[in-house]
Amino acid sequence: MFVDKVTVQVKAGDGGNGAVSFRHEKFVEKGGPDGGDGGTGGSVIFVADPNQNTLVQLRYKQELVAKPGVAGFHRKQHGRAGEDLLVKVPVGTQVFHDGQLIADFTTVGQQEIVAHGGDGGFGNAHFKSSVRQAPRVAELGEKGEQKELVLELKLLADVGLVGFPNAGKSTFLSVVSNARPEIGDYPFTTLIPQLGVADIDDTSLLIADIPGLIEGASQGKGLGDEFLRHVERTQVLLHLIDIYEPDVAAAYKTINSELSQYSKELSKRPQIVVLTKIDGLPQDGIDQQVARLKSAVQKGTEVFAISSQAHIGVKEVLRKARILVETARAKVAEVSVEEPDTPVIRLDAAAQDSSWQVTTTEAGEFIVSGAKIERFAARTNFETEPGVRRLRDIMRRTGIMHELERQGIQPGNSIIIGGHRMPY
Ligand code: GDP
Ligand code: MG
Repeated sequence: MFVDKVTVQVKAGDGGNGAVSFRHEKFVEKGGPDGGDGGTGGSVIFVADPNQNTLVQLRYKQELVAKPGVAGFHRKQHGRAGEDLLVKVPVGTQVFHDGQLIADFTTVGQQEIVAHGGDGGFGNAHFKSSVRQAPRVAELGEKGEQKELVLELKLLADVGLVGFPNAGKSTFLSVVSNARPEIGDYPFTTLIPQLGVADIDDTSLLIADIPGLIEGASQGKGLGDEFLRHVERTQVLLHLIDIYEPDVAAAYKTINSELSQYSKELSKRPQIVVLTKIDGLPQDGIDQQVARLKSAVQKGTEVFAISSQAHIGVKEVLRKARILVETARAKVAEVSVEEPDTPVIRLDAAAQDSSWQVTTTEAGEFIVSGAKIERFAARTNFETEPGVRRLRDIMRRTGIMHELERQGIQPGNSIIIGGHRMPY
C-alpha cells in the first residue's frame, strides 16, 4: 500500500463578531459606541517540510480545522485572533481545489495559505459619524473558508533497490517497511513496482524496489515509463547481492554495466553495496565474500553484510542510506525552483477582486455577484436593520444600486447576494 493521493477537508476559523456596546461611565449620560472588533479566524497553512515524504499522516487526519477568532468586547477591546493551523506536507505535494491547482510545493519551507481565516467583524466603535451618534451596527465575523482539497504527491523515491533476481530485494523491502511485496524464489516475481516507507530514527525513507530493471528494462521491456521516470529520481541506490553468488565481484559488475546501459545518470548515483542472506553462514565465510566484493567496488565504498530474515545489519544499512539521502536532499533544496507547468491560481487575488455583476432570474430576482461585495454580505447581520442598511450604503457607493435601478428593479423585488435574500 502506498498513498500518493489524499482528499482532505479544510476549514479556516470564522472571524469573531464585532460588538455593539456603549460607554457606561458615571456622570456620562449617553456614552459613545465602544464595541470592539472581532479577532481574525485562524488560517489553514500548508508548509513543505523536508522530513515528510508521504501523505500517509493525512489519511488518518482528513479534517484540518483552524481556530475561530474571538468576538469583540466593550471598551473597544478586540477579540483575540484564532490560531493558524500549520500542516506539514512533503516537498512535491500539489494541492487541487475543484480540479484546479492552487498550490505547488517545490521548495523546503514554502508556505501557502490554503484556507483563509475569516476577518473579524468591526465593532460599533467604527461606525460613529456626525449623523449617527449611537450606531447600533456591528459586523458579523466573516466565515472561514471551507473546502475540499485533493493533495497529490508525485512519488520521489529516495532509495532504489537494484540487484539480480533473487538477490533479496523484496524481502528487504518487506522487512524494513510497511510495503508487503510478494516474495517468491523464482525470477520475475516482482513485476509491479513496489514502494515502501522505512522509518529510521526520526525520519523516513521512501524505498522503491526496482525489479525488472535488470531483467530487461534496459531493452525497453517490462516496466512502464511512469515507473522508470520515478526510478530515475531516486537519490541513492541500494545494490543487493546474494552472498551465495559464486562470484560476487562479477555479479556486482554485471548489474552496474546493465545500469549504465539503461541510464548513465542512474549509474552515477551513490551506491550502498550490501551482501544479503548471511544467516546460516559462518563468520569467516561472510568475511571472505565481503573481502572479494571490496576489491571490486570503488575505493571508499562501504560493503555491508545483512540478513533481512534474521534482522541482522538492516538498521545500519538504513542509517547509511539516510545519511546519503539527506546529503542529496540538501543539494536538491539548494537548486533553483522549476517553474510549475500548470499555472497556480492565487487565492488571495481572487478574494480581493472588487468587480461585480448584476444578473436577473426568470422569477424576477436580481442577483449580485462578485468576490468583494459577497464578502461584505457575509459579514452583514441580516437580522438587524442597521446591518442591512450598511450593506445598502456600500452597494450604493460601489454603483451596484445604480445598476440595479438601471435594470429596472422595483420596490418589493428581491436582491440575492452571497446566498442571502434582501428586499430592495
Ligand atoms: P528479489 O527477487 O531480489 O526480490 O528476492 P526475494 O526477496 O524475492 O528473495 C529471493 C529468495 O531469497 C526468497 O526465497 C527469500 O526467502 C530468500 N531470502 C531473502 N532474504 C533472505 C535472508 O535474509 N536470508 C535467507 N536465508 N533467505 C533470504
Ligand atoms: Mg522481488
